[in-house]
Amino acid sequence: LAKRSGRRGFRYYSKELTEDAAKRLALESELRRAVERGELELHYQPKVSFPHHEVVGSEALLRWRRAGVGLVPPNDFIPVAEETGLIVDMGNWVLREACRAAAEWNAGGEALHKVSVNLSARQFESHDLVSVVGAILDETGCRPEWLELEITESLLLEEDGAILTTLSAFRAMGLSIAIDDFGTGYSSLSYLARFPIDTLKIDKSFVQKAATDRRHAELVKAILSIARCLGQEVVAEGVETAEQAVFLRQNGCQVAQGFLFSRPLPKPDMASLPRRFAPAEPSELASR
Ligand code: C2E
Ligand code: MG
Ligand code: MG
Ligand code: MG
Repeated sequence: LAKRSGRRGFRYYSKELTEDAAKRLALESELRRAVERGELELHYQPKVSFPHHEVVGSEALLRWRRAGVGLVPPNDFIPVAEETGLIVDMGNWVLREACRAAAEWNAGGEALHKVSVNLSARQFESHDLVSVVGAILDETGCRPEWLELEITESLLLEEDGAILTTLSAFRAMGLSIAIDDFGTGYSSLSYLARFPIDTLKIDKSFVQKAATDRRHAELVKAILSIARCLGQEVVAEGVETAEQAVFLRQNGCQVAQGFLFSRPLPKPDMASLPRRFAPAEPSELASR
């Protein structure tokens, strides 16, 4: 991180500098030091398979324990990290940390626990992403089949073949690729035929409306059908109610993630996770 801090040169404070801009500058410079200071934390949200709610993996979600502020959620700092390019170093930290956890959780060699990591488009701009990921796998003892990369549809809008080359290289290494927030991007569906995609993650806005709104229910069924035809797995994100879980299971969704099962947990709490969650029936909701 330190290497990059000089690049922008000097900044001159002037009267025009608004309070917002000053705050933003403070955020930026603190963010630069967050990795070195060990202020980043990864929390993990379990993913469970239908119908038995067995824990099959987790999504690594970044948090920043900012001095004097507390735990900062990713939406409050990742956009700045992306604009400044800091996301590249942060993203490498996330990958290393997540791979270490995956190596630890799969060490028993029984059930597979796949860890999913979110990647920003900016990370794909560095030409050495594939070799960096390869080096992190080697260094941490994480097998490629224990790691999934979550990307967004917007990355696949580029006509440029570089993304295809990168994703194909990941696929060849044995990693899996998921499309995050599926259905919320502005892209055409044709990329599903062009790119090596293993998993579609249905965005929580669809998941949450599907249990009560017929048109959203039909959309979710259509997504499940597309995935089935293409041999892709579907993960539903943001599952909060038993009704949503029952709807998803009945329509052939394989994996769910959401507050119904667990919030994202700090790593130490993952040790006491049950191997499977009790199936929640809709009737249980009434008694809560
Ligand atoms: P995402 O990848 O779509 O992650 C899912 C988000 O939904 C997480 O928010 C998670 O806490 C939240 N969530 C999970 N279950 C439920 C639920 O049942 N109900 C509701 N309302 N929300 C639920 P979080 O942790 O705040 O992360 C927000 C976004 O920040 C992520 O969205 C992802 O785009 C980004 N992000 C997080 N960690 C990283 C990272 O390491 N690198 C990058 N590039 N982006 C990250
Ligand atoms: Mg994600
Ligand atoms: Mg998502
Ligand atoms: Mg999302």
